[in-house]
Amino acid sequence: MYLKSIELSGFKSFAKKVELTFNSKVSAIVGPNGSGKSNIAEAFRFVLGEQSIKSLRGKKGEDLIFNGAGDLPRANRASVKVTFDNSSKFLPIDFDEVTIERVVHRDSVNEYLINGSQVRLKDVVELLGSAHIGASGHHIISQGEADRILNASIKERKAMIEDALGLKMYQYKKIESERKLEKTRENIKQVESLRREIAPHLKFLKKQVEKVEKSIQMKDELTKEAKEYLKREDDYIKQTEAHINNEKAPLLKKEKELEKELNDAKHVLEKAKNKDVKSEELIELEKSLHNIRDEKDSLSRDFGRLDGELSSLVKIVKKQEEIAHSSEHKTVTLVSVEQLSTKIEDRVNNAKSSNDVSVLIKTLDEVALLVSDFIDRNKEKIDNSLIVDAQRDIETLRKSKKQIEKTLEEIREKEEEFTTRYNSLKSEIEKEKDRNRDAEKAVFRIMAESQEVRSKLHDLDSKQNNLNLVKEDYRRELTELGHLLGQYILDFKNLDFDYNEPRSNQEERRRKIEKIKIRLEDSGGIGATDVMKEFSEATDRDQFLEKELVDLDKSATSLTELITDLDNRLSTEFKTGVEKINHQFREYFALMFGGGDAKLSVTVAPKKKKKDTDIPLDEDLETEDIEESEEGIDIDVNLPKKKVKGLMMLSGGERALTSIALLFAISQVNPPPFIILDETDAALDEANSKKYGDMVESLSSRSQLIVITHNRETMSRAGILYGITMGSGGGSKLLSVAFDEAVAVAK
Ligand code: ATP
Repeated sequence: MYLKSIELSGFKSFAKKVELTFNSKVSAIVGPNGSGKSNIAEAFRFVLGEQSIKSLRGKKGEDLIFNGAGDLPRANRASVKVTFDNSSKFLPIDFDEVTIERVVHRDSVNEYLINGSQVRLKDVVELLGSAHIGASGHHIISQGEADRILNASIKERKAMIEDALGLKMYQYKKIESERKLEKTRENIKQVESLRREIAPHLKFLKKQVEKVEKSIQMKDELTKEAKEYLKREDDYIKQTEAHINNEKAPLLKKEKELEKELNDAKHVLEKAKNKDVKSEELIELEKSLHNIRDEKDSLSRDFGRLDGELSSLVKIVKKQEEIAHSSEHKTVTLVSVEQLSTKIEDRVNNAKSSNDVSVLIKTLDEVALLVSDFIDRNKEKIDNSLIVDAQRDIETLRKSKKQIEKTLEEIREKEEEFTTRYNSLKSEIEKEKDRNRDAEKAVFRIMAESQEVRSKLHDLDSKQNNLNLVKEDYRRELTELGHLLGQYILDFKNLDFDYNEPRSNQEERRRKIEKIKIRLEDSGGIGATDVMKEFSEATDRDQFLEKELVDLDKSATSLTELITDLDNRLSTEFKTGVEKINHQFREYFALMFGGGDAKLSVTVAPKKKKKDTDIPLDEDLETEDIEESEEGIDIDVNLPKKKVKGLMMLSGGERALTSIALLFAISQVNPPPFIILDETDAALDEANSKKYGDMVESLSSRSQLIVITHNRETMSRAGILYGITMGSGGGSKLLSVAFDEAVAVAK
């Protein structure tokens, strides 16, 4: 047994908490009219998740809450708890006992709890659905609903049977899958329309991107060319500049040297202007020498003449001396005799004055000496007056000669001095002349060399000027390329090339670069990072949508397959279920009516369907309404000994019996854990009540039964009886009663 108990609190007429435990296979609830028995059946519907307030006999949630009666104040909430023994795990939840509670508040807010934990309605429905007990309540037959199955349309009947056969789960799944499929199709449409929407933009972006890619390609090409060009140009400039400087440095040095040399030479030549002074001096010297020589010549002549005179005089003197040395030719001069006489007279005079004889004698001696000296002297003395004169002349001549000699000597010295000076001056002048010549030569040479150096320098300067133009171009190109290609163009410095190529290659390269630049500008694809980003985003989005579409298609396919599968299962299980029900139905029918026959048949009733607006209009297609078949269940009855056929012809009791037979048959095929029968037996006579009681008993072997009844026979089949009364203070009361009491209470 699965159903353990139900607890009502504030639900409808049950103001106070009431608990009914069901530890018997058949429990009967008895009580007078209006005591609240049906409210218990409704309490089951309520707690199992019934959403139709109408089937709970109310208009709004508030109607389910005890509204106050007599002394009892109205409740704020209605609560019903049902407890199952789940030790067999007939409910797929890992608890041995499962309590499901539903609470409704006056504001119509509902709460659902499983074992005290708040859950959603969906959780309750799913949990119970898996054990064939759902809110649809095929196992709860409300009062007056015994023949509901007979009154229902074929489609409703089919639904009831499907529910009873436990096919509701499949249907839920099918509905859910169809809903999902619908949603998926909507999503597919949405995604497709999104893709359609973005397609032109994507196409546009793609074209843009192609342009951009082309321009990127061109940029790459340009970068490659530009790097090589710049590197080679940079190298060329550096090398050429170094070359120019290398060539220039020695030339500048040379120029300075030449300048100095020129200055030196000029200095020399400047000095040469002073050579006139020297020449004049030389001329003067020449003149002086000439004069000196003249003078020397004259003196020499004088000297010779003197010398001649002298030698003739010497000859004369010699001759005279020879003559003088012969005595006969000796003469004295008067003067000398006079001088002697004078001296003697002096001495004689001096002696006369003296009386002294000695003095006289001495004076005599002296006079004698004077005379002897005189004679001696004149004896010896040659008459050399001529000689003396000659000698005197000689002497004079000699003196003159000496004088001349001295003068000559001086002149000679002077001549020598002048000659030396003359010679040195002359050689100086010669040397200077040589130097000037050299300097002049040097000036010519220097000028020639300077000319050469200057011309070389000039060449180098013009080379430098050309290079400056190249440099300017290079800088401008570098700036332009930098703007165009970004800073990383400067990487070119790390490149290395073979430099052996003609300069014209660079020209070619430059032309190529210009061409690419023009093409790039024409393409207008510069600065396209935004386009690329947008395209990548749009592509990502499109790819995402494409993937989404694939996924959606997949899930649509699998949902369609699932629906087909569910349809197939529903169809087969329904058919086999109906067969099984028919088997039981026949038996119960025959039992109830003591014969006869009854059966369910699957029937298809035509149903008009509205024009399908999803089908595109096409002239070849039917434009009329399309007919769609509707499957349902028909009931055929064949009463024994009566020619009555068809449900319409049955009496109220017959309807009740047929309906009971069918309900029981259904319950036998797929027994629910419990069945609630609210006065299903109301219309039965005694004989039929017995048969009903037998069926209840047989049914109870497979499902727990709760019967609400006024029928004594039915009560007799119950293991436990609950009596419900309407208390004097208002509100339903529960009595656990003995059968006899129950019978009394029921009455
Ligand atoms: P019968 O044997 O005639 O079928 P019953 O025992 O099945 O009667 P119910 O239909 O279960 O009786 O109970 C109806 C009673 O419940 C009524 O008296 C009604 O006033 C009372 N009732 C219904 N809803 C509320 C409510 N919200 N508050 C108080 N009482 C209520």
